Amino acid sequence: MLIIASHNGAIGIAGAMRALKQGGSAMDAVEIGIRAVEADPADHTVGYNGYPNILGELELDASIMDGRSLNSGAVALMRGFPYAISVAREVMERKLPHVLLAGAGAERFAREIGAEAWDEMLTEEIRGVWRKRLADSSGEGDVPLLSDDRPLLEWVKLATDPERVAGTVNFIAIDGRGDIASGVSTSGWAWKYPGRIGDSPIIGAGNYADNRYGACACTGMGEMAIRASTARSVVLYLQMGMSLAEAARQAMLDLRDLGGDYIGGMNLIALNRDGAHIGMSSDAGRTYIYQQAEMAEHVEVEREMVEIPARWAGK
Ligand code: ASP
Repeated sequence: MLIIASHNGAIGIAGAMRALKQGGSAMDAVEIGIRAVEADPADHTVGYNGYPNILGELELDASIMDGRSLNSGAVALMRGFPYAISVAREVMERKLPHVLLAGAGAERFAREIGAEAWDEMLTEEIRGVWRKRLADSSGEGDVPLLSDDRPLLEWVKLATDPERVAGTVNFIAIDGRGDIASGVSTSGWAWKYPGRIGDSPIIGAGNYADNRYGACACTGMGEMAIRASTARSVVLYLQMGMSLAEAARQAMLDLRDLGGDYIGGMNLIALNRDGAHIGMSSDAGRTYIYQQAEMAEHVEVEREMVEIPARWAGK
């Protein structure tokens, strides 16, 4: 039994490991681990109290994948329901003929299944950070008027904040039966354009698991993972016979080939079916965490760095 997670999964990994030790599935462990992060008001990149979009609205993305069946479920742009990962799992388990529900449809589904809804998804503190960012970006010290009849495009470019792109939680687990599951949950980029969907709810981009080979989950600039199918690439490279380190490294190197303006940071965690694990990052000093069943607590370890030349032109 093994769990690996992005470093901000520390708040949920003990509960996730407890579930595995009590006979729970890898899917259970992933959901339990991620729910703890989604409920944490101190994590501004996942679930409740995440950084909102440019209009000050919190839109959540999440996905979960079962490596045994290759089934998956995902939600995107969901408002008002903190536990996006649980709703994503229900999309899969209620046997809808769909994988991904977005926006009003995801919220309708969440209501229909009785998912926990919260009236207030942001604290005043985070609303204040949003207001300040808008005021600073306006150059006039005032919060600009954001309305439907005013093009938002320029505002998103101004307000997009490289410091607050990074976040998101990744969990990957192997249970006592050897089944693998992976999950990702995020509030996405801070100040994103309304309706923007990142890599986290897109199977193959930010999340992929296959019992036969391994699993991978990503954080960082989701647009890049979407364009390069990063999570699926790692698993496919494993299928092609690469070692875990080669597979993860190659998927990172692939990102260097992406052209265009918005090229930023990328991070991934991955494991293979034998329980070897690795973390990669385009930034130095980034970490991830892991815990095996026999360990009393999780350990934080450094990710290997693969530089992706920064070509951030959003400013
Ligand atoms: N990957 C997430 C997204 O693009 C954000 C992040 O990990 O920071 O929505």
